[in-house]
Amino acid sequence: MATGLLYDERYLNHDTGFGHPECPQRISSIVLHLQKLPIYSTFKHLKPKQIELDWILTTHTADYIKRAQDTCKNNSQILDTPDVVVSKDSFEIAKLACGGALRLADELIKGNISNGFAILRPPGHHAEANRAMGFCLFNNIAILARYLQEQHGVNKIVILDWDVHHGNGTQHTFYEDPSVFYMSLHQYPFYPGTGSVLETGEGRGIGTTLNYPMSLGASDKDYKEAFIKKIIPAIKNYKPDIVLISAGFDAHKDDPLANINLSTECFKWMTERIAETAGEVCNGRIISLLEGGYNLEVLPLCVEEHLKVLSNYKR
Ligand SMILES: [Zn+2]
Repeated sequence: MATGLLYDERYLNHDTGFGHPECPQRISSIVLHLQKLPIYSTFKHLKPKQIELDWILTTHTADYIKRAQDTCKNNSQILDTPDVVVSKDSFEIAKLACGGALRLADELIKGNISNGFAILRPPGHHAEANRAMGFCLFNNIAILARYLQEQHGVNKIVILDWDVHHGNGTQHTFYEDPSVFYMSLHQYPFYPGTGSVLETGEGRGIGTTLNYPMSLGASDKDYKEAFIKKIIPAIKNYKPDIVLISAGFDAHKDDPLANINLSTECFKWMTERIAETAGEVCNGRIISLLEGGYNLEVLPLCVEEHLKVLSNYKR
């Protein structure tokens, strides 16, 4: 079966204004690059589904959803925090980003794809239940996890977040929930401030949050050590039914927003380790969603490596 590749040109219509790092060119540069590669024709190309607000309500409050909708409709530009710049279409586009994630879930569960990646924006992992944050409106990966459980009866889910920023919104969504194991590697201390090694979950969720903070200047070696010593053993021990990846590429050494020094090759290596592990524990089931990544030259190259590995490990 093929690797699913989800994209929609409407994702370009979320207008964040001049000079904003989370710009439409991020994803158009990825697609333009991928289209030149022979592998591009081997993907199963997918479009997002239109979703009901009920799915967004699995993760966000009704008050927040209404505020997001009104802010976009009124063209008020700033939603909750100054870095979340929105335009008239942003609410619908953010819904469509969730719809992209859910389409991959449907295709994977139906057996139409082995694994899949979504080139989408706005990103999601900073979005909290009741507010927008860090360029994120709706928490795409959290909504995806809830959808897999409620719509498709999937039990245990790992969310691996290697975006350079800690995914505060995702962590908080599942902090007391042992059915979703959130694990993150991120620069620390850094934006958004959460993600200390002491944050391990609460109540029934104790032990299903794993933070691996990285110091400024951390390298491939540090990430590889984290994978070998902590991340991979934790996934094998937990035995999820699917692995979801919050795939940000802003830990790359050339990324302008952070100070971690990963090579492009390291993203290939990390994807290989996850694909191998998913092959052992969950029949290779992986859905990966784009989060950050702000260097327009290296972002497409990182995504290429990520996709080549997913494609190599398809079943
Ligand atoms: Zn990030």
